[in-house]
Amino acid sequence: MSIPSDLALFQSIVEKLLKEEKENPVAPYNDVAHLQKTLDLCPEKEAMSESDFATALEKLVLNTPRTGSQGFFNQLFGGRKSKAVLGDLLAVVLNNSMYTYKVGGPQIIVEKEIIRRVSELAGYGNESGGTFAPGGSMSNMMAMIMARDSADSNASNKGVHQKLIAYTSSESHYSIPKNAAFTGIGRDNVRYIEADKFGRMNPEVLATAIQEDIDAGNKPFFINATAGTTVLGAFDPIQEISAISKKHKVWLHVDGAFGAAVLFSEKYKHLISGIEHSDSFSLNAHKMLGTPLSCSMIFTKDKKKLYSSFSNKASYLYQTGDDDYNPGKTSLQCGRRNDALKFWTLWKALGDEGLEEIVEKEFELADYARDYVRSNSDYTLYSFDNSIAVCFNYKDYDPDKLCELLYENAELMVGYGIFKGEKFIRLVFVNSENSKEDIRNFFIKLEAFTEKNEVLLNDKSTVG
Ligand SMILES: *Cc1c(COP(=O)(O)O)cnc(C)c1O
Repeated sequence: MSIPSDLALFQSIVEKLLKEEKENPVAPYNDVAHLQKTLDLCPEKEAMSESDFATALEKLVLNTPRTGSQGFFNQLFGGRKSKAVLGDLLAVVLNNSMYTYKVGGPQIIVEKEIIRRVSELAGYGNESGGTFAPGGSMSNMMAMIMARDSADSNASNKGVHQKLIAYTSSESHYSIPKNAAFTGIGRDNVRYIEADKFGRMNPEVLATAIQEDIDAGNKPFFINATAGTTVLGAFDPIQEISAISKKHKVWLHVDGAFGAAVLFSEKYKHLISGIEHSDSFSLNAHKMLGTPLSCSMIFTKDKKKLYSSFSNKASYLYQTGDDDYNPGKTSLQCGRRNDALKFWTLWKALGDEGLEEIVEKEFELADYARDYVRSNSDYTLYSFDNSIAVCFNYKDYDPDKLCELLYENAELMVGYGIFKGEKFIRLVFVNSENSKEDIRNFFIKLEAFTEKNEVLLNDKSTVG
């Protein structure tokens, strides 16, 4: 075994996968027991022959869910941007740990440049900073930790000894309560602010909730506004929320894991206007920007907050260089995978214009899908304009069951969502490689499938 022969194997498997993906965008569905029986998955005592190994690996790859294909709409990531894939492959081969300049070299500058350019686009000033975290949930946690330490400078040494309260909308991501549990805030100290009929946080309800906590002797410390909610893709009104955060001196974080990528678009950046007044925000390039998982960033307007919450002395690690180029000083973890290079290869190759095109294409596809749904009386629309999530039901079919059957029959990968008690199919547009034709085909496929499977769909005894 050697790198050249494994690269040849890699190329041959990838070529087969790409061909398969085109012909069958959804991988065959099999249950766990069947896959355990038919795939060779258990590592054995003895080495395998090269050819048996190649066969086992190829079979595994071809039976894996196809997230890069035109049939995948299941989550907030999808597609495959080839320049970003190239960067990630190189990051694996280079295998730098991105904690020090000594070990990362120019890759550290790559990371810093990305942080600097995105901060600039968000209207953050010269004192701003940021870092790559292992995912949006962790980016949000870093924000919560900075907010906690800003509200209570004893928290990191002595523990949390007062009732710190966090505010987030009822439609926000589950990482907020989870992070409250991790950071010593406590899940019970998260207030869920009611969303309006468009799924956006209601600022008046927020203001009242904060006042009530102050009156009760609690200390509001963190407001999370969401840019792109998980189900409806709604954008909380950051401008109005920031006025409340300023009035009460509460840290404002914008969870932009899904939607903050609109900052690359002239046409849609109004959706996050006011982000320049926030104290921090997160952004996942692995969602709207099509970069491979994970590629998540956290930004803060005052980079001193990053150092005061995350740095630790370590003489065995920090032996050379300037803190600014030793990102291990501001990270959650010690060893750091190079998540910056894949976003850099994409951005460097396509330019700001290219990223803008990606974002605008996704909105264009969503507009197309909404028009399709609106112009066909068999469909009901549950989501709103200016969102890349299109939520709908088709006829009276149970969305849960329909999604499950589409998956089990290897037709389409799509999921369902719930908002204010209504359940519906959630079609998300995070794959800018798709065309309007692909979206039309999605609907046609869905319609044909329901027609052929009327009996199964109406059978109340099976899953649902
Ligand atoms: C996806 C998402 C997250 C979590 O990001 P991960 O990278 O999956 O941890 C947080 N908030 C929102 C709004 C998201 O859409």
